Amino acid sequence: MIAVLAGGVGAARFLEGLVQVVPPETIVAIVNTGDDMAFHGLHVSPDIDIVMYTLAGIVDPSQGWGIRDDTTYALSMLATLGADTWFKLGDQDLAVHIRRTELLRAGWTLSQVTDAFRRALNVGVRLLPMSDDPVATEIATPAGWLHFQQYLVQRRARDEALGIRFVGVEQARPAPGVLEALRAAEVIVIAPSNPVVSIGTILAVPGVRDAIMASSAPVVAVSPIIAGAPVKGPAAPLMRAVGLEVSVRGVAACYCGLIDVLVIDRADADLADDVRASGAEVTVTETIMRGPAEKRRLAEATLAAARTAVRRRAYQRVSQEG
Ligand code: GDP
Repeated sequence: MIAVLAGGVGAARFLEGLVQVVPPETIVAIVNTGDDMAFHGLHVSPDIDIVMYTLAGIVDPSQGWGIRDDTTYALSMLATLGADTWFKLGDQDLAVHIRRTELLRAGWTLSQVTDAFRRALNVGVRLLPMSDDPVATEIATPAGWLHFQQYLVQRRARDEALGIRFVGVEQARPAPGVLEALRAAEVIVIAPSNPVVSIGTILAVPGVRDAIMASSAPVVAVSPIIAGAPVKGPAAPLMRAVGLEVSVRGVAACYCGLIDVLVIDRADADLADDVRASGAEVTVTETIMRGPAEKRRLAEATLAAARTAVRRRAYQRVSQEG
């Protein structure tokens, strides 16, 4: 079984490649819920939905989120009625949030709802929220603390990011199955997601980091940073806000002591030695995922990197014993 720590768009694309290489039923995605927020009284889980819609084949490919060819009649009416509509929600998307909220109010947990939805949408990959307890990622700005969605979507990441906190994370318990998946995994992959506000949030849930550290499985991360910039999204200011360089060196520093291998792009080949100095092995390959073939190749390279890490460990053990 392969456990994948996942944010939104980068992770969803990576998982599209992984399901071409191994049976979907052998993959467990542990998904960030620090971006979750209530809109119009409804519980929205953006990263879970991005991953779910993508694997269900219904995601809007131009945006990487939302549902393809969705309409926005409900949002227009909400605007007419005076609601704040800066967070774009299509009509079919809204149906997901309505049903999720209804089930949560009836006493279901977020993991139960997520499992029911992914089955209904024929997604073979198991999707686990990182926690069933509420965690809110907030960004410190000169205007005060903003919820991640306010910072990113409402204010378009224009405020200077000064710091990050995960409200509620100390009390959050890993969702059922999360620690079990990390313990049972043959390979643990950190998807090419925002290292600070997607992966950092998951790692902050008590018990998750320890479970990864205690695992005998190789841990492979794919860098979301290529040639000093993220492919998309606000990783650059948020990495800087926590003192990380926006480069594969910064990604390696962020995952220092946690990962065995970092997969980096050919554009960053000259930084491979710097990454090795942080203690991780390096695999250099194409990491931009445009079409299905590129996604598949990146998944294959990531699993090959994991196999190399296993061999390296076995070799080290033998040479220590000998
Ligand atoms: P978000 O919640 O939608 O921002 O999702 P993630 O945290 O999963 O994804 C954002 C990160 O994914 C960004 O830092 C991007 O650089 C990275 N990303 C997106 N597409 C690609 C890609 O094709 N290749 C790589 N290596 N990273 C990508």
